[in-house]
Amino acid sequence: MCGIIGINSNKPVTGVILNSLKKLEYRGYDSAGVATLVNGIINETKCEGRVENLENIIFKNKNDGSLGIGHVRWATHGQPSEVNAHPHSSEKVSVVHNGIIENSTLLKKHLIRAGHVFKSQTDTEVITHLITEYLKNNDLKTSILKMLKRLHGSFALGIIFKDFPDIIVGARRGSPLAVGYGPNENYLGSDSYALKSMTNKVSYLDDGEFCFIKKKEVQFFNSDGNKINKQVLEVSSDDQSYDKGNFKHFMAKEIHEQPNTIKSCLKEYIDKINNEINIINFPWNNKEIKNIKLIGCGTAYHSCLMAKYWIEQLTDLEVETDIASEFRYRKNKFKNSQLYVFVSQSGETADTYAALDLCKKNKMKTCSIVNVVESSIARDSDYVLPIHCGPEVGVASTKAFMGQLLVLYLLTLKLSFLHDKISKENYGLKISSLLELPKLIENTLKIERDIQEASKDFSKAKGSMFLGRGYSFPIALEGALKLKELAYVHAEGYPAGEMKHGPLALIENGMPVVVIAPRDKFYNKTISNMQEVISRGGKVLLISNKSTDEISSENLWKKIQVETISDELFPFLITIPLQLLAYYAANALGHDIDKPRNLAKSVTVE
Ligand code: GLU
Repeated sequence: MCGIIGINSNKPVTGVILNSLKKLEYRGYDSAGVATLVNGIINETKCEGRVENLENIIFKNKNDGSLGIGHVRWATHGQPSEVNAHPHSSEKVSVVHNGIIENSTLLKKHLIRAGHVFKSQTDTEVITHLITEYLKNNDLKTSILKMLKRLHGSFALGIIFKDFPDIIVGARRGSPLAVGYGPNENYLGSDSYALKSMTNKVSYLDDGEFCFIKKKEVQFFNSDGNKINKQVLEVSSDDQSYDKGNFKHFMAKEIHEQPNTIKSCLKEYIDKINNEINIINFPWNNKEIKNIKLIGCGTAYHSCLMAKYWIEQLTDLEVETDIASEFRYRKNKFKNSQLYVFVSQSGETADTYAALDLCKKNKMKTCSIVNVVESSIARDSDYVLPIHCGPEVGVASTKAFMGQLLVLYLLTLKLSFLHDKISKENYGLKISSLLELPKLIENTLKIERDIQEASKDFSKAKGSMFLGRGYSFPIALEGALKLKELAYVHAEGYPAGEMKHGPLALIENGMPVVVIAPRDKFYNKTISNMQEVISRGGKVLLISNKSTDEISSENLWKKIQVETISDELFPFLITIPLQLLAYYAANALGHDIDKPRNLAKSVTVE
């Protein structure tokens, strides 16, 4: 979601800011802007739409400075437009903001009464006016402290000043913010990805902290304004992942990368010599764990739900799943015997972070499963399990979902073994089966053409359903979410056995329905549910792991076979056709596949 860049240098900065904003484009945004200090005057340029538009405007009126801030916005308050785009500037200050100022209406009222004139509908503009007001009678640090005390909500801020031409202020509460170090120049970024092309040396601000970024040094302060020291970390660089290669979209590339990303992840976690899973050195005694709570949002929530089925099957642990935005506001019974597992691709998902924070405040055991190891969620949990799948650029998650499933399955096996619920032999067999997964995924990708064909009916549909039971149910939910996200076609994922309790009423002639029916213990039941759908006119795409030749029906217009070597591994494989289905349905409609409308990659607002 939305991004911030700041650069304090002795060279012109606009071009570098624009390039860095382009790196943040994959996160999804609706407008962009830059402000630099040119000959002591704040020079602001912004526009609706893409960074390329901004680049064209800036190219025409070339005024550059050596200190500046840039932003890509994902609107929360006020529609996407030039006037609402960031930065928001007065004569004295210019502000970029990620997050939401929850008390902005009240603050705006006070500021208007004090004579301030607002130009935009955003919540952010109150910050500009607040600092401008405080600077009238206070020094810079006091003004920042006073301004921060007035704000409720979540924010990462980048601020420049007419009267302090060698300082960029960064401040954080709730939304991530990183500082980068370069030769005679320093940077501010909404995360370390944003800074990657400039430096791999970074520090992260923690909640409540702020900093003064000068050319030659960075000063950090805590929420009381006392100076603090920050660790400088080295982040890994993965620049080739930002290249689409021969693919038309990042999403296509990321779907096809899955045999390799799964292979790399297995390499990290499986000790082939001892046939063992390298999930070790837990900072808690495993025998103390009696319950597991899995928490995530969107696709990550679906991977949690999938893990619930595996954990229940393979251990005696009680397991619950929760949607982070619900969990964080409910009255929760915190238990010492519970392990809280947080799943997030970016590791910056605001709701998931807030849920983690709540658990930490209640002194719970926390474990995170993330792609970005330098992220806030990873840094603040007791134990981190990275998914090792490299940067994911497509907004709709594919390879990261697969990576989350893999790490959750590995964790399940390990817990099962540690809790003596699986024999050494069976444990070893399951690990060996996992090593077959990359090849199985590669084989499954061969059904691409068949799926492309079937996808046409989904792109034309006004609604669709995805049905499954047992292990297939969470994947049905994920398949439906992918179609919604990418093709903007209404899709519902449902447990096949629940159809008769309501959603069957939705079925009408020609409605495309995906039925996932592997030959597991549910097979006959799911097939009966499918027949109920077909009898009412549903047009069924049946996906199974074995031949379904015994079924014939004129409405069963497509059958797809996806080979697996065990029921437990089928969820990984069934995910592939559903990803491809959404991809091709969206492609046929000409949608912006890597940046679906209204969505953002790293959801750093509530
Ligand atoms: N709430 C601010 C706005 O709507 C910031 C949104 C963002 O994080 O990009 O302008």
